[in-house]
Amino acid sequence: MGRLDNKVAIITGGASGIGEGMVELFSQEGATVIAADINETALKKVSEKENVVGMKLNVASDEDWKSFAKEVTDRFGKIDILVNNAGISSEKPYEEIDLDDWQKMLSINGFGPFAGIKHVAPYMAAQNKGSIINISSYTAQIGQGFNHYSASKGAVRALSKAAATTFGRQGVRVNTLFPGIIETPMTEALSTSKELLGRLMQATPLQRLGKPEDIANAALFLASDESSYITGSELVIDGGFSAQ
Ligand code: NAD
Repeated sequence: MGRLDNKVAIITGGASGIGEGMVELFSQEGATVIAADINETALKKVSEKENVVGMKLNVASDEDWKSFAKEVTDRFGKIDILVNNAGISSEKPYEEIDLDDWQKMLSINGFGPFAGIKHVAPYMAAQNKGSIINISSYTAQIGQGFNHYSASKGAVRALSKAAATTFGRQGVRVNTLFPGIIETPMTEALSTSKELLGRLMQATPLQRLGKPEDIANAALFLASDESSYITGSELVIDGGFSAQ
């Protein structure tokens, strides 16, 4: 028996990194998983897994979300779990960030989860049950020099709290995960990658970087009925880095 048997789960950004790790684990645990991503080539690969369906979605588009949520419900009958994981990052220096940079970052990382909740929560509310997990970042708590990226992840943190209170009475739970540095294509793309990652690992009490499955395991708990009394909560998964 799987911990997510008979559940329908959407994972945004499901074609890479942390999202792909969750797609893998959730499908192994019995869920029908919709991997939603803007990268169609990467989606093809992830859709080859059993119980996984790849669907194109631009999380920054209100219209995309509206038709996507309806299509998932029409095809699979319901939505039990939504993981708002898709995101972009940037190390741009503060003085170089302009309004376009800010808007792009906040559209994908901030409006994306907002619109996901807006369009999916009503389907969950109709069955008086659902679990939404938002992926913020440790940088929402300690900044770490990621500037507008950190700001976008702070938006996710506050949005999660607000949504937990807005939708709680309709049976919809909303919780947030705060990953530390996790080894994915996103972190590999950092310009200072090797040196920075080495330094961060040294500075981490548990003396290693995170892996996608570290986040997936926590998301699995919050997605499952084992966490049925948990909403509005926050879980930092960073090997103790931000506790220092
Ligand atoms: P990743 O780059 O490996 O994967 C991100 C995925 O999101 C990609 O498949 C990409 O195509 C998709 N995506 C980007 N823009 C999209 C859009 N507009 N619509 C739909 N899909 C879109 O990154 P990752 O490291 O797996 O990160 C996943 C999440 O975890 C992100 O929200 C990221 O900010 C967060 N996070 C990552 C780390 C880390 O160290 N890797 C740390 C803290 C938080």
